[in-house]
Amino acid sequence: MDKVTFLAEWDRFMVLGSGIFLGIGILIFLFYEIKIAQIKDPKEKYDYASTHEIRYFWYALLAVVIAACIFLNSVATSAVASRYTWLIYVRLVSTGILGIIAYLFTNSTINVYYPRYLMKRLNRIRNKPRISPDGNIMRKLSEEEEDPHLEAHMIAEEASDVHSVDYDVWIDEKTGHKKIEKYYDYQQTEECPRCGYYTLKIEVEEVITPPTNDNTGVLHKHYKCSFCGRREMRKIVIAALATNVD
Ligand SMILES: [Zn+2]
Repeated sequence: MDKVTFLAEWDRFMVLGSGIFLGIGILIFLFYEIKIAQIKDPKEKYDYASTHEIRYFWYALLAVVIAACIFLNSVATSAVASRYTWLIYVRLVSTGILGIIAYLFTNSTINVYYPRYLMKRLNRIRNKPRISPDGNIMRKLSEEEEDPHLEAHMIAEEASDVHSVDYDVWIDEKTGHKKIEKYYDYQQTEECPRCGYYTLKIEVEEVITPPTNDNTGVLHKHYKCSFCGRREMRKIVIAALATNVD
């Protein structure tokens, strides 16, 4: 194979390879969008998005980054190889290193910037009026009508495994139909008061005073910001066990 043919083949493979990775990226993105569009129940949609969205988004982006790096190897190849053909392998390694840098950069960008967008979207899903089986618009009880609860079976377990639970109670005021949804605070990120990114997250929850059937308990939530390292502790009153919703 002469040099001109080899370089043309090289370019063809690089364009093909980048096309494949771009296709994979688009497929991952579409797969996620179709999957989430099929979920009708808002609570299920919430759970699916909160556990999968960042990951899928991240895989899709990674595929696009790889596609871009491979594509660079097909640009002006004859100029790169004009003196030494092996220079195209040097370029291959360089774009690989570039890809790793891009990987690290997108990784931190997604973890810092994306949660703000995701949390706003999740909150919209969480507060979207629920529809009762009778077709009525339901009302969500206010936080004042609620207390934080604790998963009863977890209370006896190790403190590090304890998670406080936030229940949303929706009421159909015409029929009395009730829908109870369970949310975990530790799965959410909040806006950090110091750096302003949505990177403040519960690191550990510890039960200081366990609730009993009749008395409330005390829980300490330790937050840590993954961006600036800020820590804070919040004291939470846990509802008495007898009032646990399920
Ligand atoms: Zn911060």
